[in-house]
Amino acid sequence: MLDTDSLRISFALEALVLLVLFLAITYRIGRSAYAAWWCASLVAFLVGAVAFLLTGTVHQSWAIPLGNALIALGVGCVWAGARSLRQLSLPWRLLLIAPAVVAIATTLGGPGGDVWAGGATFLAAMWIQFALAARELWRLVAESYAAQVDGGSYRASVWALAAMSSGAAVFYLGRWIAFLAVGPAEPPFTTVFGEAVTTLITTALLATVSFGMSTLSEEQQKAVLRDAAHRDALTGLLNRAGFVHHAQVALHAGRRHGTSGSLIMADLDHFKQVNDIHGHQAGDHALVAFADSCRSAVRVSDVVARHGGEEFVLLLPGADSDRADEVARAISEEMARRSPLGEVVLPTVSFGISPLEPTSSLEHVIERADAALYRAKETGRNRAVHYAGDHHDRD
Ligand code: GH3
Ligand code: MG
Ligand code: MG
Repeated sequence: MLDTDSLRISFALEALVLLVLFLAITYRIGRSAYAAWWCASLVAFLVGAVAFLLTGTVHQSWAIPLGNALIALGVGCVWAGARSLRQLSLPWRLLLIAPAVVAIATTLGGPGGDVWAGGATFLAAMWIQFALAARELWRLVAESYAAQVDGGSYRASVWALAAMSSGAAVFYLGRWIAFLAVGPAEPPFTTVFGEAVTTLITTALLATVSFGMSTLSEEQQKAVLRDAAHRDALTGLLNRAGFVHHAQVALHAGRRHGTSGSLIMADLDHFKQVNDIHGHQAGDHALVAFADSCRSAVRVSDVVARHGGEEFVLLLPGADSDRADEVARAISEEMARRSPLGEVVLPTVSFGISPLEPTSSLEHVIERADAALYRAKETGRNRAVHYAGDHHDRD
């Protein structure tokens, strides 16, 4: 039979190695909150395991409460890390409840003479916190399906972490029940849920969770890069590639629900003059004001992008032509409200509007909006023109 001390030493060594690797690679590169929480867990597990090595020495009476509290804190950090993946925080008070209760219960149980002092409280703290972590992770899995997150290994990593947390919760629930039912000295506690088995399982768990976490971190890094590749640096709006990506998703959803919408092309009037008279930097400021005006006129479900130069495109799912007119008017009004910007009188805006049917292709709709925009320029600028000759002059 494997002896518990050797297993604990290998567990502590593994926690140490993983901590160094995680700090040096995953946390240093990604700086994500959950990687920081996992480092905190590893520290707690490591010090907790070392404290347990003092079992059987004169230090046992303080080492066991400390060890129990640290292991409980480590699992609390797993829970906090799982919440941080969902952009939720965990108040310190909540995080410290389990370790504090475990430390008190273990101390009151007489840990000098009983290595299982406070055992029921400790095991309860373990399974409850693993279950809380698992709940967050399963929600994250569900959210990744709902948001149609692409990148299968993101979902696979979250899935694996959720499954492992659930497995740990079930295992500790089993230990807790066996502990309450037969106590720590009888089978099945000694056989199925004993120290040696537990240490073996947690050793395996540590490695797999670390692997899952670093895969996740890599996936998130990729998502950050993908997002950067889809954004325009000057205005913070989507760029053309980002527009195509998000517009396809919106069109796809529109087809599924059979809804239509509108697409607007917006172009600043005589923008070249701003550059020529006030300089390129003033032109840039005017573009940012234009982008902010577009952003302020739309709903969150709308897709706004810088299509190129001083031309912006807005996809409005579910918007009829009246709503599209309203958005165009709101953009022009917002530009007028912001003008003058420093010394620059902000340019007026011309709009081309095209309807978006569930069957339309994106290129086709953009072409039509472009044709309408051309008509708006041709017929005097500072107006919105609808595709198919049906043009309304504003003002
Ligand atoms: P129109 O009313 O016909 O649209 O006239 P316009 O002067 O706006 O049209 P044109 O397409 O001739 O000029 C667009 C100008 O936008 C030319 C280019 O120098 C300027 N531009 C494109 N991108 C940027 C940018 O990032 N910053 C600045 N400052 N200017 C830009
Ligand atoms: Mg222009
Ligand atoms: Mg232009």
